[in-house]
Amino acid sequence: MILSIDTPWQPNAWNDELQKAFRHPEELLTFLGLTDANADPAPQFPMLVPRNFAKRMQPTLSDPLLQQVLPQRTEQEDAPGFVKDPLNEHANGFNKAPALIQKYHGRALLLATPACAVNCRYCFRRHFPYAENRPGQHNQALLHIKSDPSISEVILSGGDPLLLSDRPFSNLIDSLNDIAHVARIRIHSRIPIVLPERANAALLETLSNSRARVILVTHANHPAELDTDTERALACYRAAGLWLFNQAVLLRGVNDNHQVQIELAHALFEQGVLPYYLHLPDRVAGTHHFFVNLEAAQVIYRQMRAALPGYLLPKLVREEPGAQAKTPANEIAVESPTI
Ligand SMILES: *Cc1c(COP(=O)(O)O)cnc(C)c1O
Ligand code: SF4
Repeated sequence: MILSIDTPWQPNAWNDELQKAFRHPEELLTFLGLTDANADPAPQFPMLVPRNFAKRMQPTLSDPLLQQVLPQRTEQEDAPGFVKDPLNEHANGFNKAPALIQKYHGRALLLATPACAVNCRYCFRRHFPYAENRPGQHNQALLHIKSDPSISEVILSGGDPLLLSDRPFSNLIDSLNDIAHVARIRIHSRIPIVLPERANAALLETLSNSRARVILVTHANHPAELDTDTERALACYRAAGLWLFNQAVLLRGVNDNHQVQIELAHALFEQGVLPYYLHLPDRVAGTHHFFVNLEAAQVIYRQMRAALPGYLLPKLVREEPGAQAKTPANEIAVESPTI
């Protein structure tokens, strides 16, 4: 039998893959034939790396995929200005119900599950008080969405919403479809990239049967993250009728280079995905080694704009507490030139 490009994976292939994921820096380094004295053998934020993602790495410590997931001792160092909650997300009354955050008009964000299929070292949610937000218990959040007709889009985030199993995921989509004013469901997920096996028939059926339009915002930071497995997964999601976009984070030593960004845009398009946002990193404790300053980001962005068609140019944005939307970072004045 010839498999077409959008053939789903076996129902439980993704669970098997997750069970086999690397959970100790030593294991991953050995798999790559490397040693690293700076790797942290017992990180506070645990390591989690699916083998399928590790397969795409080159055997060198500077590999951009490895850099994103290998715990480093430097994460434990304090850096001035880097704090646990730079966006003040849980002090500002944005929490409309447990697991529901609304900062912007018309769009509410539901924390579908606290878990991810990969733990990214730069993650801005590494300190999020998930326990207080009880993701997974969505009744109050659903009641709130139902009571507010201005919410036309529900963003499923987390954690990674596609880590919900088939049945809870389909129940959640059904509940949202029961709310007439929800016109769009947006899924923010790194799973199509790091765990392509998640694209099984049950999930795809749920997605293709949704009354509300479904948008999938993937999260790839580097062109080397895209391979024939991501191509197959993305083709499955497209065949299920989803709109595909990508958001990336600008990360020092990973993708803070215009050539890499330009290649990423082309590689995404080849797999049916349009670049959406390029985020400047937030000043989150434990992630200072990834930080790229505004001025450097603007230089990279100007070079991207000079080389890419408009539809492949992501919006360079920064998240600012209290703003009504993400702030276009190419328009922010650089106050004091940094060296
Ligand atoms: C980023 C974000 C959104 C989505 O913003 P868009 O500009 O529509 O992509 C919605 N809610 C919250 C809380 C966010 O942080
Ligand atoms: S997948 Fe997203 S939420 Fe999960 S660790 Fe990575 S960046 Fe954070």
